[in-house]
Amino acid sequence: MREYTEHYLGGAWVPSSGSGHFDVVDASTEAVLGRVPAGTTADAERAVTHARAAFDGWMAESVATRADALDALADALAARQTELGELIASEVGMPIKLASGIQAGLPIQQVRAFASMVRELRFEENVGTSLVVREPVGVVAAITPWNYPLNQVIGKVAPALAVGCTVVLKPSEVAPLSAYVLAECVHALGLPAGVFNLVSGEGPVVGEALATHPEVDMVSFTGSTRAGRRVAELAAGTIKRVALELGGKSASVVLDDADLERAIKGSMSQCFLNSGQTCSALSRVLVPRARLPEAAALARACAERFTLGPALEGKGRLGPLVSGAQRERVRRYIEQGVAEGATLVTGGADAPAELPRGFFVKPTVFSDVTPTMTVAREEIFGPVICLMGYDDEDDAVRIANDSPYGLSGAVWSADGARAQRVARRLRTGQVDINGAPFNPFAPFGGYKQSGIGREFGRHGLEEFLEIKSLQL
Ligand code: NAD
Repeated sequence: MREYTEHYLGGAWVPSSGSGHFDVVDASTEAVLGRVPAGTTADAERAVTHARAAFDGWMAESVATRADALDALADALAARQTELGELIASEVGMPIKLASGIQAGLPIQQVRAFASMVRELRFEENVGTSLVVREPVGVVAAITPWNYPLNQVIGKVAPALAVGCTVVLKPSEVAPLSAYVLAECVHALGLPAGVFNLVSGEGPVVGEALATHPEVDMVSFTGSTRAGRRVAELAAGTIKRVALELGGKSASVVLDDADLERAIKGSMSQCFLNSGQTCSALSRVLVPRARLPEAAALARACAERFTLGPALEGKGRLGPLVSGAQRERVRRYIEQGVAEGATLVTGGADAPAELPRGFFVKPTVFSDVTPTMTVAREEIFGPVICLMGYDDEDDAVRIANDSPYGLSGAVWSADGARAQRVARRLRTGQVDINGAPFNPFAPFGGYKQSGIGREFGRHGLEEFLEIKSLQL
C-alpha cells in the first residue's frame, strides 16, 4: 500500500491543505493499492507561485544543462522501471509484460529523445532584417489522464522542461502513482526548486484552478473531449495557450485488394491494446460490404485468442478495465449496440464468469454496424470493435471521416500508393498503412474534436515555445 499525503511544491514535499483523499484501486483485484491527497485550489495556487518564481532562472539555464537534467531523469526512472511497470499494470490493468515495455519503458525512451532533440533544436534564425528567437512559453499546467499515465505526463513535462518552461502537473486521480515516482526522481536529482511541481486532486478542483490561473501561460491537457472543452473555455478567460489531446473514434479502412485476415488481425490487436483504453484505438473497421460475413468470422476467431487475465499474473492477453465505473460504461455501450440492431458476433455485456474479481469485459465484436449507431459514433474505451460495410472507396472515406473526432486511422491495401492516396483523404492526425508499427517519435495529435496541437517528436517540443522577432 502506497500512501501519499503530500504534494510536491517548490522542491519540497508539502502536506495537502485539504483533508480528502483518493483511493487508487488495483484493476485486477479491486484491492486498494494506494492513496493520494485530494488537493485544493490553495494547493494549486501555491504550485503556480513556485513555478512562476522558478521560471526566470530555469529559462536562463543553458540548453545543455537542461538536456543533461533530462538524461539524468531518464536514468533515475530507468532504475525504477520494474517498479513503474508493476505499478501501472496494477492501476490500469494492462498485462505486465506489455506494461513494462509500453507504460514504463517507452516514456523513459521519450525523456532521452527530448534531451537529444532539444540539443539539436534551432532556437534562432534570421528572417530578413529580423532575428527570430524562440523562448519558453512560461509556466505550463499539465493535466493528464489515466490510460497511459506516465507516457502522457512525459509527453508534456519533458519537452516543457527541456525548452525552459516550469511545470505544474496534475495527474489523473485514477492512476496517479507513477507521477509520484516521477516527482521522487525529480527530487532526488535536485532540480532547482519550483521547476517541477505536482499537485494531486480532481479535475473540477485542481484542474480548473490551473486552467483559470492568470500566472499559468499554457495549459496542456490530455483527456476526454468533454473535459478538454471545459479547460479551453476556462483558459480563454486569460487567453492562455491551450494544447488538447482528446478522444477518438478511429477507422481502419480495409480496401478491396487488401489481405483481409491480416487487416482484421492487425486492427483488432491495435484496438484491444490496453483493453481498448487507447485514444487512437481502431474501433471501427470498414470492409467491403460483400465481405462483412467473412470479416466477422475472422474477427470472432481473433477475439477468442484474447484470453482474459489479471495484469500481474502474466497469463492473459487482455487485462481488466481501469475501474468499475469504466466497466459499467462499456457494458452500457454493448447493450446499446445490441438494442440498436448491431449483430453481436462474440463477447457481450455479461461479466466473464471465470473472473469474479477485477473489472473485466469480454472481447466484443459487433458487425453490421451502421454509421448512425451509438457504437459507431461514440468513444467506448473498452475491448469493443465495430465492423462496418462500405460500397466503394469514396464511401469508405466518407464513413471514416463521418465523425466529430479525427485522431487516428489505418488503411490496408495490396497497393502501397493507393493506400497512401486514401490515407491522405482521412481527416486525422495519423494514419497507419498496412499495419506499420507505431512510431513513438512522430508527432501525435488530432484533427477536429480530437484536439489542438501535437505531442512528441520535434513538433511536440516546439509546442512549448513562444516566438519573438528582434528587428535589427
Ligand atoms: P478525463 O477527461 O476524465 O480526465 C483527464 C484529466 O482531466 C484528469 O486529470 C482529470 O482529473 C482532469 N479533469 C477532468 N475534468 C476536468 C475539468 N473540468 N477541468 C480540468 N481538468 C479536468 O479523461 P480520462 O477518463 O482520464 O481519460 C480518458 C480520455 O482521455 C479518453 O477520452 C481518451 O481518448 C483521452 N485520451 C486522449 C489522448 C490523446 O493523446 N489524444 C491520450 C490519452 C487519452
